[in-house]
Amino acid sequence: AALAAIEAKEEKVNSFVTVDREGALKQAEEVQKKIDAGELTSPLAGVPVAIKDNMCTEGLLTTCSSKILGNFVPTFTSEAVLNLQKAGAVILGKTNMDEFAMGSTTETSAFGETKNPWNTEHVPGGSSGGSCAAVAAGECFYALGSDTGGSIRQPSSFCGVTGIKPTYGTVSRYGLIAYGSSLDQIGPVAKDVTDCATILETIASHDTKDSTSVERDDTDFTSALVDDVKGMKIGIPKDYFGEGLDTEVKDAVLAAAKKLEEKGAIVEEFELSLVEYAIPAYYVIACAEASSNLERFDGVKYGYRTKEYEGLHNMYKKTRSEGFGAEVKRRIMLGSFVLSSGYYDAYYLKALRTKALIKKAFDKAFEKYDMILGPAAPTTAPKLGQSLSDPIKMYLGDIYTISVNLAGLPGISVPCGVDSKGLPIGLQLIGDCFQEKKIIQAAYAYE
Ligand code: GLN
Repeated sequence: AALAAIEAKEEKVNSFVTVDREGALKQAEEVQKKIDAGELTSPLAGVPVAIKDNMCTEGLLTTCSSKILGNFVPTFTSEAVLNLQKAGAVILGKTNMDEFAMGSTTETSAFGETKNPWNTEHVPGGSSGGSCAAVAAGECFYALGSDTGGSIRQPSSFCGVTGIKPTYGTVSRYGLIAYGSSLDQIGPVAKDVTDCATILETIASHDTKDSTSVERDDTDFTSALVDDVKGMKIGIPKDYFGEGLDTEVKDAVLAAAKKLEEKGAIVEEFELSLVEYAIPAYYVIACAEASSNLERFDGVKYGYRTKEYEGLHNMYKKTRSEGFGAEVKRRIMLGSFVLSSGYYDAYYLKALRTKALIKKAFDKAFEKYDMILGPAAPTTAPKLGQSLSDPIKMYLGDIYTISVNLAGLPGISVPCGVDSKGLPIGLQLIGDCFQEKKIIQAAYAYE
């Protein structure tokens, strides 16, 4: 059914970089045998999934939607995907994304843009736009995405699906091609909260191959699927409802808060503070880490290499000039600049200090509230072709999601209505570290 849906919709939506038709059918047959023999009992056994193309899959092309990895076939599988395979998941293929997860629209992909299935003149959001569009279009039953600054929550919001960014360290990053390593987390994208909780429970694991992986004994996320919010304290940051927020998004999100209040939650406004510093701090830190992480793509070890060159230095230069797209180059340069001597203290160190202050502001909020409620993005999905010409404006669209990554917190985006153009709106719930269950419970009670 999923392969038939892909055949019918892919030409219009372009969610996938690679569809592994034969591989998927073979996996399905093998999984069926194991289910019949009683060896596989996971609720995910036999369910087709799509994987964002920045997670390594053994024997299956993994491009990060970049020309520089256009021929890269990994020899190993990322831990999160392995966890799914152990549960009997059937991998359909790899989904389109912004190149190296840098972007908010999936338009920076070297393999063409993905379109929003709700209205194909609009973007699906990004960078996990392919994963979210594939779920929204019914091309798969769920998908994995990654979230460095909102890349699961924002496209989930634009595509009317549900997505979770877990607490940093909950899902292993082993085999996830790094963008901003201190911010990157893998998470589920699915049709509802129940599916997301089930998937997260399966992919969460302690992994010694990822030095930032956390050992947790509370990853039974499906136990939080309880329709009850009585007495839960929900804080609404006033600073999330100021200038730049579309009024239709604002109304839908506040209506969602009202619904939770009617169900017994205690909803209150408060001042989170420092919100305006999150974007500059994030872009300095994310670009700094990216400039270092992307040094490995040099045309020597693997990936694309330029055809004609004179000597090693020229080979590096030509390979990287031809292999990376404009947004990736912009960030490598910005990151190298803020790390360079003379500017390190002024930019990078200052951004790290700001990050620490943002974490403190959240700590203070969570002394009082069980969770924070707000929009996932200031607008609904913009039209294709409108965002890339003004990168600063595009970066500003990350205002509600990036501080969550800077503080390492979990966040969920759930659909909460559509605007007058018929485009979906997303409600974001943010929890304290390791408090996924609270936001899962509230989101479940809401939907
Ligand atoms: N839009 C943000 C960026 O471009 C977030 C991307 C992400 O979470 N991968 O960096």
